[in-house]
Amino acid sequence: MSDDLFLKIVSREIPADIVYENDDVLAFRDLNPQAPLHVLIIPKTRIPTINDMQPHDAELFGKLFLAAREIAAEQGVAEDGYRVVMNCNSAAGQTVFHVHLHLLGGRGFSWPPG
Ligand code: AMP
Repeated sequence: MSDDLFLKIVSREIPADIVYENDDVLAFRDLNPQAPLHVLIIPKTRIPTINDMQPHDAELFGKLFLAAREIAAEQGVAEDGYRVVMNCNSAAGQTVFHVHLHLLGGRGFSWPPG
């Protein structure tokens, strides 16, 4: 059995509030939301961090952003605006080592981030 938490969500071993799915990508609500809308968008294959990304993964990463665009529109935050974030390793606060895009919306965000 994989120890990859997010692959367990892909295989439905662990429940999640799934909002979007296609052949390559799954998206579900974050358990500990940091905004009224907080969705995690993941590839269905295991890539631990951005540092592990290979040239052949470029299209897959693009698909994460296409999913973000679609979910933002579906969830009604596209016009006001939203933030997408991908943390890499501990200094950035990555805690789950399966790459994921955070899609945050429904409130304002400051820049620069903390
Ligand atoms: P990061 O800190 O960028 O690695 O983000 C990991 C995110 O995964 C955090 O925002 C957690 O709240 C979230 N998370 C952890 N476990 C689950 C889960 N089982 N279902 C949904 N979100 C989760």
